[in-house]
Amino acid sequence: MDILLLGPPGAGKGTQGAIVGKALGLPKFATGDLLRDAVKRGTPLGLEARAEMEAGHLVGDDIILGVVREELGKPEASKGVIFDGVVRTIPQAEGLERILAEKQRKMDAVLFFDVSDEEILARLERRRSIEGRADDDPAAVAIRLRAYREQTAPVLSWYESREGVRRIPAVGTIEEIAARVRRALGK
Ligand code: AMP
Repeated sequence: MDILLLGPPGAGKGTQGAIVGKALGLPKFATGDLLRDAVKRGTPLGLEARAEMEAGHLVGDDIILGVVREELGKPEASKGVIFDGVVRTIPQAEGLERILAEKQRKMDAVLFFDVSDEEILARLERRRSIEGRADDDPAAVAIRLRAYREQTAPVLSWYESREGVRRIPAVGTIEEIAARVRRALGK
């Protein structure tokens, strides 16, 4: 089963993706985590992505789709994947649809984690004090939220007109939200 998690930064996609991935026995794939690791290790991918990431801008679609193709080529991804924040533009949605189709697959469920801007700002401020991510500082957060509104929010309508989108109110305890995710997936 292939499941896409959509939502603004700080909506809880990573936390809930890990829970649902474990429950369904599927790997979670987050482009943000993969890119951060590449930056830390100083690989060519990391060197290419670093400046955009630190500024809070989106990394180019071709880079993302290259990484997605590579991940989906791995044997552990053959039964399905939890895609966490992997699609942030319409060209990425189209590209991922093509890559899955080559494997006779399609996105089985799209979950949208719905949370207000005020809640996001408070969460990212908390996360910054814990994880110290450079792109959680207020200036980069403002840019990331703008990138989300301008480039990622339209992706919701793109999926609405295809697989349909299941909306998860993403405020509450981790357990409450995980229960909503299970219900939305019929599990
Ligand atoms: P995240 O950890 O999901 O907040 O991602 C951190 C940063 O990685 C984002 O602000 C972008 O710079 C970059 N990034 C992660 N996934 C994507 C994607 N699918 N498209 C473009 N940029 C991405």
